[in-house]
Amino acid sequence: MLTAQQLTGQADSHVVSNDICRPTVRLQGPVFTAYSAMHSAAAEAGVALDIASGFRDFERQRAIWNRKFHGKAPLYSSNGAELDYSSLAVGEIVAAIMTWSALPGGSRHHWGTDLDVYDPRPFAAGKRSLQLVPEEYDEGGPCHELALWLQRHAHDFGFFFPYRQFRGGVAAEPWHLSYRSLATQAQQQLTLEVLENTLAAADVAGKDYILDCLADLKEHYIDNICGATDEQENSGWLFG
Ligand SMILES: [Zn+2]
Repeated sequence: MLTAQQLTGQADSHVVSNDICRPTVRLQGPVFTAYSAMHSAAAEAGVALDIASGFRDFERQRAIWNRKFHGKAPLYSSNGAELDYSSLAVGEIVAAIMTWSALPGGSRHHWGTDLDVYDPRPFAAGKRSLQLVPEEYDEGGPCHELALWLQRHAHDFGFFFPYRQFRGGVAAEPWHLSYRSLATQAQQQLTLEVLENTLAAADVAGKDYILDCLADLKEHYIDNICGATDEQENSGWLFG
């Protein structure tokens, strides 16, 4: 069980690094164990994978949020079209941010159970850089082979894809894997009260609006995930 501080990314005592990837990538120990087994199985099948991002702390998420809220970073609709910041009301700004970035305190990356994965080989020469956009994982994209392999095998190692399809909340993220057992626990622990207390005490842009409709935002963007149960797991894949 995580403490409220760990759950909201304000402590990092629940995550560790591992020789299998860069030291800046941190996850809970058991998640690395499962990832290592999956990494070996993928290698045996001729598929390479690496982690672009694991644990992210509250401060990092808050910096991303505040930049976007103040129009210092571009905002996109769920289909990737750039939005005109100057024409958006506060609620529309919050919705646009939450389609692509989590609320500080509400990111699954705080838990140490969730990771963004990619195929490192096409990027090794340094000629192209990973953008984490769906086209990279679609047919013809540099991470498509990996995406197909994970779609079939990630489940065997305890992982699922919470953002497999767009469900009206967070945009589809075929690179985002979640370690089901520990993530489900964390999700249950992240109550409205925990989130409310965290945000109320922090300097987060748009805080008054966010706190006013936090229950709706939580339901729409945080609780609204794909494959919350095993039965949903294998239906409606993006590709394949
Ligand atoms: Zn992610």
